[in-house]
Amino acid sequence: MRVIYGEAEASEWKFERGIPDIFFWRSSSARCLSGGVSKLFLVDDETLKKVAALFGEDAVRVVEVLKGVDEITDIEIADKTQIRLNLVRKALYRFYDHSIVALRRSRDKETGWFIFNWRLQPDQLEGFILNQKRRVLEKLETRLEYEKSHEFYTCQTPGCKRFPFEEAFELLFKCPACNKPMMYLNNDRIVEILTRKIEHIKVP
Ligand SMILES: [Zn+2]
Repeated sequence: MRVIYGEAEASEWKFERGIPDIFFWRSSSARCLSGGVSKLFLVDDETLKKVAALFGEDAVRVVEVLKGVDEITDIEIADKTQIRLNLVRKALYRFYDHSIVALRRSRDKETGWFIFNWRLQPDQLEGFILNQKRRVLEKLETRLEYEKSHEFYTCQTPGCKRFPFEEAFELLFKCPACNKPMMYLNNDRIVEILTRKIEHIKVP
């Protein structure tokens, strides 16, 4: 008997859902202002928000503030968002790692302390998104290859794992968690979904 799609496969869906839809972002949503010397991509708010969301909740609020100003200090961002300064800095440095924000350090004339001035670099967003897309694509392709080159067996008990043939064979086709016999699991649906996702992401 062939199992088409058992409950045991629930974890596969998580993987599917785990891909932020930002990776299906189309470059048409970023319009290039031609004619200027510098290439400026106008990333719409929705895209910006989605990117920020990849960095966590604080990051979304930090971006909200950054996009409304030319340049701002981290202390001012902390004031406006009511997020603790160290968390604001954490979010900023994570953006900085991906060049999504630029940092300018100046010195307070009175106290002599450093002031950190931050600015959003929307033109770097496209590169960031393309990079992330590439990484997701690699993961999906590896996964697809794995799905295509293995046969899986499952007991169909919700929450139990599926096993590739070699492992299932070692286990004498008996689930180590619930002891029920394991049966062949058709993974055509997973292959189909992965293939579709890959094609979708590949569209320029
Ligand atoms: Zn089981």
